[in-house]
Amino acid sequence: MADHTPSAAQRIVIENCAVATVDGQDTEYATGHVVVAGNRIESVGPGPAPQGLEGVVRRVDGTGHLVTPGLVNTHHHFYQWLTRGLAQEANLFEWLVALYPIWSRIDEDMVYTAARGSLGMMVRGGVTTAMDHHYVFPRGAGDLLGAEIRAAQEMGVRFNPTRGSMDRGSSDGGLPPDFAVETTEGALAATEEAVDTYHDASFDSMLRVGVAPCSPFSVSTDLLKEAAVLARRKGVRLHTHGSETAEEEQFCKELFGMGPTDYLESTGWLGDDVWMAHCVHMTDSDIAAFARTGTGVAHCPSSNARLGAGIARVPDMLNSGVPVGLGVDGTASNETGELHTELRNTLLVNRLGPHAHKALSVRKALRLGTYGGAQVLGRQQEIGSLEPGKLADLVLWKLDGMAHSSIEDPVAALVLGAPAPVTLSLVNGRPVVEDNRLTTVDEDDIARTARAEAQRLARIAQDAG
Ligand SMILES: [Zn+2]
Repeated sequence: MADHTPSAAQRIVIENCAVATVDGQDTEYATGHVVVAGNRIESVGPGPAPQGLEGVVRRVDGTGHLVTPGLVNTHHHFYQWLTRGLAQEANLFEWLVALYPIWSRIDEDMVYTAARGSLGMMVRGGVTTAMDHHYVFPRGAGDLLGAEIRAAQEMGVRFNPTRGSMDRGSSDGGLPPDFAVETTEGALAATEEAVDTYHDASFDSMLRVGVAPCSPFSVSTDLLKEAAVLARRKGVRLHTHGSETAEEEQFCKELFGMGPTDYLESTGWLGDDVWMAHCVHMTDSDIAAFARTGTGVAHCPSSNARLGAGIARVPDMLNSGVPVGLGVDGTASNETGELHTELRNTLLVNRLGPHAHKALSVRKALRLGTYGGAQVLGRQQEIGSLEPGKLADLVLWKLDGMAHSSIEDPVAALVLGAPAPVTLSLVNGRPVVEDNRLTTVDEDDIARTARAEAQRLARIAQDAG
C-alpha cells in the first residue's frame, strides 16, 4: 500500500470560515483559519492565517463555510450494505432471525463491495474515522476483515475495524442458527491473528484493530471472558453490543440471572478500554458502573428508532461522566448509512425523553459526533478536536446555500439543518472529499457493484433457502 502521508513541509491554509474547534472550552471563531502542515494541525485561530508561511501548496477560501473536526463513527456493520430495506417492521430479535440466514452467505468480494458502499456514504458526509464491527465469518468465505481494510485504505479514511465473533448457536440457547457461528477456539485464534496482522498502535495510526464478540445472546460466556483477556494481553480495545432491547434484558435475566451490564461486568467487560453499542436499557446503577469504570457508549439513535428499541439515556450518561460517541450502526437497521444526520437525530430523539428540550444542545450533539467518538475509540489525544499538534482530520461544511444561509449560528445550521454539503474533507492531511464528491474512489462504480453484489447475495441465500 502506498504511503499517502503528506510531507510536513507542505501546508494547506483554510481561512475566512467559521471555526468550531470542539476543544475543552468549545472555542469558536466567527471568522478564522486552520493551517495544516503535513498530517498535523499546525495552527487554529481567529482572522486570517499567519503571514509568511512557507510551503503553502493550497489556500482554501472558506467564506460561507464552517470547519469542524472530522466526524468519528463508533459503531457499524459494513456487510449490511447488501441487505438494506429488509425486515422493515421487525424488532431486533425478529430482524436478526430474518437476516442471519442471508448474512451467513457473504463472501470476501461481497464484504469488499459492502465496505466501499458503507464507507463511501459516511466519508462523503464528513466521517474521517470509521469503525466496523464484523462478526459473521462463514467457513471458506475468504479474508473478510482484510477486504474491508483494503476498502478503507483505498478510500483514505482512518479506520478502527474490530474482529467480531459468534459462538452461541441456537442449540446452545443463542439466537443465531448453528451454521452461522464459529467455535470458541477458532474465533479466539482468528481474532489474535487479526490483531497481529493489522493493528498499528502509533499516534498517526490509520488502522487500529479491536476485539468484538457480537452480543450476550450470540456469544458464550467463555468467549466473552477469553476475548477480554486476549485484548488486554495485546493492548487493544474491546467492543460489543449491550443493553440494546428489552428482549435482551429478559434473555440475560433468564439465562444468567442478571441484567446485561452486570453480566458483562462479571465477564471482565467493564473498563476504560471497552465501549458498547446502544446501551438503551440502562438502570441508574448500570450508568454508575459505566461512569466508575470509564466504559464508553456508541449511541445509535436512528437504528434504535428503526427497530423500536427505545431511547438511550444520553443526558444522564453525560451528566455521570460516561464517554459517549455516535454510531451509524449497520445499514440494515439505518438505511441512510450517514453519520452527519445522527447529529440531528441524537438531539431530536433525546428531547423526546425525560429531559425534554434540555436534553442536548446543538454543541453537545456536535461534540458527541467528534470528540466523544474519539474518546470512545481511545483516540482523544490524536483526533476529535481542532488543536495544534493533533492529526489533520477536518471537514469544511458549506452553509451558504439555500438550505442553510438564513441560519446565523453555523453550528445550529450544521446540526439542525438539512445535511450540509462537504466542500472539503481532509484525513491525515489528505483530501478525501472535494465539492461533495469522493476523490479517492468512483462513486458510480460503488453504486453499480453494490447493486450487483446485493442481488448475488439474495440469489445465493434464496437458493440455499
Ligand atoms: Zn450493531
